[in-house]
Amino acid sequence: MKTEYRTDITVRELCEGFHYDENEGKGLYGWNGRLTIQPEYQRNYIYADGKRDVAVIESLQKGFPIGLIYFLRTGTDKYEILDGQQRITSIGRFWERMFSVEGADGMPHYYEESLHAKIASTCLPICICEGEGDSPEQEIKDWFTAINTKGEPLNEQELRNATYFGPFVTAARRVFSNSSNTNVQIWKAFIAGSEKRQEILETALKWVSRDNIDDYMGRHRGDEGCKELVTYFESVIGWVKRMFLGQKAEMRNVDWGRLYETYHNEPYNTTELWEKVERLYADERVDSMDYKGVFEYLLGGEKDKRLLHVRIFRNPVKRKVYNTQTAKAKAQGVSNCPDCAAEGGTRGNIVYTFDQMEADHVTAWSNGGDTSEANCQMLCKYHNRAKGNR
Ligand SMILES: [Zn+2]
Repeated sequence: MKTEYRTDITVRELCEGFHYDENEGKGLYGWNGRLTIQPEYQRNYIYADGKRDVAVIESLQKGFPIGLIYFLRTGTDKYEILDGQQRITSIGRFWERMFSVEGADGMPHYYEESLHAKIASTCLPICICEGEGDSPEQEIKDWFTAINTKGEPLNEQELRNATYFGPFVTAARRVFSNSSNTNVQIWKAFIAGSEKRQEILETALKWVSRDNIDDYMGRHRGDEGCKELVTYFESVIGWVKRMFLGQKAEMRNVDWGRLYETYHNEPYNTTELWEKVERLYADERVDSMDYKGVFEYLLGGEKDKRLLHVRIFRNPVKRKVYNTQTAKAKAQGVSNCPDCAAEGGTRGNIVYTFDQMEADHVTAWSNGGDTSEANCQMLCKYHNRAKGNR
């Protein structure tokens, strides 16, 4: 199938020679006879309810997008509508003054050149498809029926692919959305989701764009290929494979693009790294819910306790420890932060509020200390941070 993306066809041009058959309830032709609005396989016009037809016109008036429209090329400068029949018919009927919409003055208005110039000059985004092979038209119609009968709503990336339709999307889909690409199966060890629902492509775009997919697709829309996207993606995956010598299911939920950006220039002993992965997976203090944090935790030098959620004391535990500790300190006339009390001087007798303190492992987690009440002490923020993320 060949596709061509057009954004230069105006509503005015499409409405030239618009013909609507009142008896049959069909929009028949537009674009000066070049466009068949309702081919046989399309359903009848159903937007004439004073709501959906009006919504199309109001969207155009406000400059809101009404979505991509698909044409099928059936001959030299001859087309049929594949998708968008209801929208085009609504626009044509408004153009022919068959219904009115409410104006800024709150009054109903039929189409008028002076009032609706913006609509007339709007360029609709149109994808022109052309079948290939033995029965090209059938190829397109089958494809169209298949995507439209599943009844599943489009996900975000599928919508983006439609919005930024062009040679870049075509090239990118050929790589990332293609089940017969053997690499896709390999990549799926590191990425969750389905290539058919565009989720591998979405991840690749997320990584290369640092989470600005729309911006990236907008800028590259007209590119003939997607070399940068593929090269970057392969760098990330290649790095992950070099760093981690084994495979775990949770690796599919790791944001590798971000970790690559942060750590790909750091040296690691990869044999040791994988041993540590296995050790954390076997450590009963690590909840299996937190396994995906293991990889970032290790790459970051085992510093960030928050990545292994199990290392955070829960609030009721912190409260209990705070209350016991504060009551004892008050009785002794010293600070409720043991480190402040030990330091003495001006800090020696400050009593901190609960919110001014943080929980600390008495025996560091890395030394086998667990996240239990017995191993919890409250420190003032200054001293907790001074201790570092042990
Ligand atoms: Zn302190």
